[in-house]
Order: sequence, then structure tokens, then C-alpha cells
Amino acid sequence: MNQTSDVVVLGAGVVGLMSAIHLAREGLSVTIVERRARGREASRAAGGILSSIKPWALASELAALAAQSEASYPALTAEIRDATGIDPEWRRCGMLLVDSDQAIAAKQWSNAGGQRVEILDMNASVTLEPAVQPGSRPAIRLPDAAQIRNPRLMDGLGKFAELNGVRVVEYVGACGLFVRNGRCSGVSTDEGLIRGDRVILSAGAWSGALLARVGISCPVTPIRGQMIWYRVPRGTVEHIVIRDGYYVIPRSDGVLVVGSTADAAEFSEVTPSEMVRQLHDAATRIIPQLDRTPVRGQWSGLRPWCPDGLPYIGAAPDVDRLFMCVGHHRNGMALAPASARLLINIMLGRSTRIDPAPFDPRARMAAPAVADL
Ligand SMILES: Cc1cc2nc3c(=O)[nH]c(=O)nc-3n(C[C@H](O)[C@H](O)[C@H](O)COP(=O)(O)OP(=O)(O)OC[C@H]3O[C@@H](n4cnc5c(N)ncnc54)[C@H](O)[C@@H]3O)c2cc1C
Repeated sequence: MNQTSDVVVLGAGVVGLMSAIHLAREGLSVTIVERRARGREASRAAGGILSSIKPWALASELAALAAQSEASYPALTAEIRDATGIDPEWRRCGMLLVDSDQAIAAKQWSNAGGQRVEILDMNASVTLEPAVQPGSRPAIRLPDAAQIRNPRLMDGLGKFAELNGVRVVEYVGACGLFVRNGRCSGVSTDEGLIRGDRVILSAGAWSGALLARVGISCPVTPIRGQMIWYRVPRGTVEHIVIRDGYYVIPRSDGVLVVGSTADAAEFSEVTPSEMVRQLHDAATRIIPQLDRTPVRGQWSGLRPWCPDGLPYIGAAPDVDRLFMCVGHHRNGMALAPASARLLINIMLGRSTRIDPAPFDPRARMAAPAVADL
């Protein structure tokens, strides 16, 4: 498989696919290499909440990415739906934090230019969401919060990428980045070298291992998250509801997704039964009638975690023509459109609306121990 593209993208999650689409729309030839089917890993496992579950606690650098992404989702998902026939189901369903001690912080954030926030007493909370158990403390409502149905987003994005001319190579794992004389010019696979004038690494939780092979120490590690789902009568709840860090997300057809746990599980995606019990108990505390509702299924995914909480977006340290967009941890669906846009503008040498400095991998990672592999 000895072909050359302007850009090779390693990893077809939400970050890789969105980056590939931007580049293809700039007129560049793009190949995306994926060891499984596209969009199967963290991006499929996610809940699809398009904001942080405590947006007032988000680092200011991430808030800029979040706001830009949030604004872009309605048009992006409409375009995907019209072009592919797959509806990612973007919906402004609102978010309700029940029994929260965050009311003051939420109000201050809203007054300082964040989203609209309403503080609801117990009666108002029950009137709004009768199936939800109110707490002794007020509830916080964010009426503008939105969700997407991310498995559908990923299916739509994959198809949309192809319609935009991206060559998607599936079931071909990269064994390494091809670096010669300090310059990256492709991806090595079992089926040969896939050459590119530039390479983007967007391999999520697996990115650290690929960088280590070219001597770059990148602290991205996997944090496993587990999810379960129920089928309930449509309209049982309308909002994403959050309590004690767990959430329920109502899809439009009565599917109710519940998440999520967080544990350092290396690269295992097995869902232990005690995790299912933990999620079921949390769901029942939010919606008591779920106690009598069977859990229909479970899954898990690996979030790409990085220690300082900011993704790495930009040129990799000391290897020419290697770029990266990794480490979105819990917020990859909420941030990916703006992260991909920022990366592409950096690659193409354009000015950026968002300050790229806090995300620059070169300032935050160790230099290669071996410059030329
Ligand atoms: C349970 C759970 C719930 C979540 N909920 C939310 C949410 O509600 N909202 C939100 O914003 N975020 C959420 N997230 C976080 C979000 O899913 C991630 O931040 C995001 O999906 C990361 O995207 P990615 O493209 O970087 O990684 P991934 O989606 O993991 O994609 C990386 C891709 O690289 C491929 N790859 C890896 N190694 C190789 C190789 N050697 N060769 C070829 N391909 C390779 C993988 O197969 C994979 O397809 C959640 C995550 C989990 C696990």
C-alpha cells in the first residue's frame, strides 16, 4: 500500500474525522488510517453531552473551544444529515443538575457571560421533570445545553468524510509513525507505508504509545468509562439530568443512556458487573421508576486523559511535519469541531481565533530522546 497524500490522519475518531473533513474541504488529498472500523472507540462510547457537566468549572482555555464547537454543531449536523441521510440528532434538550451545591457558581458564570442558568426549587423541579427525584438542595437548569446521538454522528461523519473525498482506510493498524531525518512522512502499517507530506496523530488514548516509538514522551493515558442503557416510554424525561456526577441522557425514541464511571483500566474495555450495578443504582437515584426497568445493555470506552486537563493541539515537538490533536478526555464530543478547526489553521499557517499557545504540544512535552528513527 504505497500511496502518497498531502495529509495522512492516524485514527478515525471524532477528532480525526473532523480534521480530515476540514482538510479535504481545503482541497488537500487526505487519507485516514484506522485499525478498526471508523468511529468505534471513545467517540462511539460517549454520552453525547455537548457541554461539560459543570461548565462553570471548565478551564478558561477550554471554554473558548467549547463555545466555538457548540455554535458549530447545529449547522454541521444538518449538513451531515442532508448529505448522508444519517441524522446525528442534535437537540437542545437542556440540562438539569439535581440536588446541586453549585447554584452560586453557576449563577456567577452565567452573569459573567456563560449560558443562561435557572435555579429551581423542589416544586419547580418536579413540575419540569415529574419522573426525577428532587433533592433537598435546588436544581440548576441550563436550558441551552444540547446533545447529539454520537453513534449516529460517527456513522454520519464517516460517510460525510468519504463524500468530501477523504480516503478512509479501515482495519489497518499503524505500527508506527514513519520518521526519517527528523521529518515525519507517513505511517507504517502491516500492509506497508502510507505516505503523506504531513501526518496528524489523532489516535485518542493510544497516542502516547505511538509517540513513544519515535522518542516523544506524551503523558496521555486511558481512563475507562462505562455506560448502560434502558428503554423507557418516550418523554419520561426531557432534559439531560445529572446527580452526584452521574447522568441520564434521553434520546428522542425512548432510549435512556446512563453514565458514567471512571477508572484507570489500562487498555481493557470490559465492563465488570459491579460497574453495571453502580450505574443502575445511580440511575435509580435520579429516576426512581428505573428500579423496575431492566438494563438493556452496557458498553465502555477509553477516554484520552492528560495530566493538565488541556488537549495537545498543534505541531509535535522536534519532529517536522507531525501534528497532533489528542487528550480531550471527558469533553471530546463537546470540543472536537473547534479543536479540529484550530489544528487545521495551525497546520496551514493561518491566524486563529482561539489562542493556540495553551494547547501547544511543544511547550508541554519532552523532546525526543532519539531524533531520527
Ligand atoms: C463512557 C464515555 C462517555 C463520554 N461522554 C462524553 C460526552 O457526553 N461528551 C463529550 O464531549 N465527551 C464524552 N466522552 C469523551 C469523548 O468520547 C472523547 O474525548 C473523544 O471521543 C475522543 O475522541 P478521539 O477521536 O480523540 O479518540 P477515539 O474516538 O478513541 O478515536 C481514536 C481512534 O484512533 C484509532 N487508533 C488507535 N491506535 C491506532 C493505530 N495504531 N492504528 C490505527 N488507528 C488507531 C482507534 O481505533 C480510534 O478509532 C466520553 C467518553 C467515554 C469513554
